[in-house]
Amino acid sequence: MNYADSARIKSVLENLGFEYTKGIDSADIIIFDTCSVRQKSEDKIFGKLKQISPDKKVWLTGCMVQHDLLGLSKIDSQLIKAYKRGNFAPVAKDMYPLIVWINPQQEKEDFWSNPRDVVYINASFQPLWDKLKTKFSNVELLFRIDDLPYLPLMLQKLWYNVTYSPEVVDEYTSLLPGDSNQLLDVRLPVAYIPIQTGCSQFCAYCIVPFSRWLEKNRAVEDVVREAKHYLDQWYKEIMLLGQIVNKHPDFVKIIREILKLQGLKWLRYTSPYPTFYSEELLKLHEQEQKLVPHIHAPVQSWSTKVLKKMFRWYSAEQYREFVDKIRALKRDISITTDIIVGFTDETEEDFLQTLELTKYARFDMIYIGIYSVRPGTIAARKYQDNVPEEEKKRRWQVLNDLLQDISFQNNQNEVGKIYDVLVKTVWDSNAVGYNGQMKTIIFPLAQNSIKVGDFVKVKITKPDALKLWGEIV
Ligand code: SF4
Repeated sequence: MNYADSARIKSVLENLGFEYTKGIDSADIIIFDTCSVRQKSEDKIFGKLKQISPDKKVWLTGCMVQHDLLGLSKIDSQLIKAYKRGNFAPVAKDMYPLIVWINPQQEKEDFWSNPRDVVYINASFQPLWDKLKTKFSNVELLFRIDDLPYLPLMLQKLWYNVTYSPEVVDEYTSLLPGDSNQLLDVRLPVAYIPIQTGCSQFCAYCIVPFSRWLEKNRAVEDVVREAKHYLDQWYKEIMLLGQIVNKHPDFVKIIREILKLQGLKWLRYTSPYPTFYSEELLKLHEQEQKLVPHIHAPVQSWSTKVLKKMFRWYSAEQYREFVDKIRALKRDISITTDIIVGFTDETEEDFLQTLELTKYARFDMIYIGIYSVRPGTIAARKYQDNVPEEEKKRRWQVLNDLLQDISFQNNQNEVGKIYDVLVKTVWDSNAVGYNGQMKTIIFPLAQNSIKVGDFVKVKITKPDALKLWGEIV
């Protein structure tokens, strides 16, 4: 999601005449598009800020900026009201938006005679702003990613000399990035397209509904237009994004429409929720070769007791049935998942159930998270974080060891198969890429002309844990 958001930020700024540079040393302004899903991600930002020379300006956006608004309830209910109006669509549509600039001295002034007009509020009242300003005087701007269409106006308020021709859109996702969908050094022909932002599911441990707020779905035509825009260039793979991507009311329609587009090689999506899978969607995985044979469906725990506590609305049995349905399809679908270990009240017995069912599902990959409390979540307010850290780490290790074993066993069945592989890295005489199932494949380069972003055919010669070895055919 952050790749997709960053591409939009880059486009808006380039349209204003700013120039993108890769290295921090050559930049005048450094923008952090932050994540707050784990405490670690937030700590990282503070670590990075320390490394930045004070003569460079710093802007922050993304989830970390937004979830700190939770602290606002103690500050001013009117501010919250103004801020919580999402991206202020009703106002933006019919009038030129007013931006209120508040610096700490002005905070007390009355800006609120007509809060309907307030489109952007500089975050100087935020707890995060205070935290940052005392330590880093070069932090200049915090902005919500939803307010990206108003970034030019914010910059004018910050006395940047930019000419702004207002492109008034309701949703920042309606700003279409140009030909660059990613800011990575390694440019792959993979386009990330958000079809939905926010989440209304409120899993007990999760910060997303507070940082990105409630679910908003994009119109089918918008998504398809964006996909076509990329496929008309050099992109080959489309990755649809959403917190519960398959909860989009027209998800199957979007898939069907994108599958019709010229130039598409692979279509993926992340992350789905097991109980929002329709029979039709599963069938498409069997029938449509361009819809990749890979389903990443987070289970989080395989104890019904823990799932209930997490507010995940399915039982261990239901997830097992879901796995059975995928295995019954006439196509070799790779299943991967997310599991949290050490959630509140998770006993050894619960953990053993997770291990048992992991063996049953034979996951090719598990993103294992050690549970950490995120302030503001339901779990933080209602539960005790009562599994000792040492025990959490032990469970992580046990599950990870099991994953390695299962992955190695699964991969033994891959020997002799031939896959299309997208090359991600090339070094010396070797290359690393991934196939439609998202399995990592390493192979020696037969020809020097092969480069990052190419598709090549590779025959699997040797299995390994979490990777495969092969040769170009
Ligand atoms: S489905 Fe649950 S875990 Fe996923 S983003 Fe929504 S609240 Fe968070």
